[in-house]
Amino acid sequence: MSTTSNLNTVAKTKILNGGPLPTVIAGPCSAESEEQMLQTARELKKDHRVSIFRAGIWKPRTRPGMFEGVGTVGLEWLQTVKQETGLLTTVEVANTQHVEEALKYGVDILWVGARTTVNPFSVQEIADALRGTDIPVMVKNPVNPDIQLWLGALERLNQAGITDLALIHRGFSTPSNKPYRNHPKWQTIQEIRSLAPGIPLLCDPSHIAGRRDLLETVSQQALRLGADGLMIETHINPDVALSDASQQVTPSGLDKLLTVLDLESERVAQPEQLQDLRSLIDKLDHELLNVLFLRADVSKRIGEYKRANALDIYQSGRWQQLIENRLKAAGDIGLDEEFVRAIFDAIHGFSLGIQNEVFANPAVATRVSQE
Ligand code: PEP
Ligand code: MN
Repeated sequence: MSTTSNLNTVAKTKILNGGPLPTVIAGPCSAESEEQMLQTARELKKDHRVSIFRAGIWKPRTRPGMFEGVGTVGLEWLQTVKQETGLLTTVEVANTQHVEEALKYGVDILWVGARTTVNPFSVQEIADALRGTDIPVMVKNPVNPDIQLWLGALERLNQAGITDLALIHRGFSTPSNKPYRNHPKWQTIQEIRSLAPGIPLLCDPSHIAGRRDLLETVSQQALRLGADGLMIETHINPDVALSDASQQVTPSGLDKLLTVLDLESERVAQPEQLQDLRSLIDKLDHELLNVLFLRADVSKRIGEYKRANALDIYQSGRWQQLIENRLKAAGDIGLDEEFVRAIFDAIHGFSLGIQNEVFANPAVATRVSQE
């Protein structure tokens, strides 16, 4: 089943704030202290591109024993942030108690985290707790790349009467997420958009990237694919953050990032059709690079096998078979033979180079591929 969902939604969402520019949600991964919250929020307030302040109060951690959030006291700090800065506030909720507390403390917007969206029982519990309210809710994609679960969460909330909804794309756990923390699988943006038309879609580059230095590329790509906003983890002192330290930026780091991204021109620079086509090319090129990266890794492992078993690097029978098979497959889908031969000659040459390196210096080759 993958039918388009008939969601009943508001015309003007609080999340998008009615402005022409993408919404920016910023704030720490976790609320840690009142001081940390207020210092971060005061800096963010100076940046007019930021309209919503986020902070995790209850943290869903993969393993027990890690920092699991400060709990209810964090909602008091969030209330102070709201009173002092006027920023809208948002927290993650995962059960009835979280919903009740967040509503009691006047949080403006809720979000459902990736580890909760995977579980229809939890999503239904949240939806039931929200019945009768009209608070906006953002739904992160599930950890696993299952679009139906994502859509199902929207539907459960909508059936409970929540009409101000948004999606947050935060990447997926896949067999190889490199170089990201969570694989963006950019094509899912198109897929969820067509299944849930009209629902705003924001991107959370922090949890996709997992590292500060990748935030720009990921955010840029999301905006090119038409994301309606970004959620970026921002901490007054990321190096001492109690969770997700390596992916958080300072408020001034966020300022620089948003300036480089040039939110305004991303939206208006090119006629829509050309921009769409270029986005598609960007996406495909990134997929191509990912595939080449994975292929190079497999080549290296084959090199290690050949070395351990005293086999020659170049095996002409295998190469002949491979190229004939690839040329036939290319012909079947109408790709030019010369073009495909040239590409595979280059790939094969590169692969032999990797294996030569494994033979010459196995320790170096292993280290390089692990970086
Ligand atoms: C978070 O936003 O801090 C968080 C836990 O995110 P996710 O649910 O995307 O892992
Ligand atoms: Mn986080």
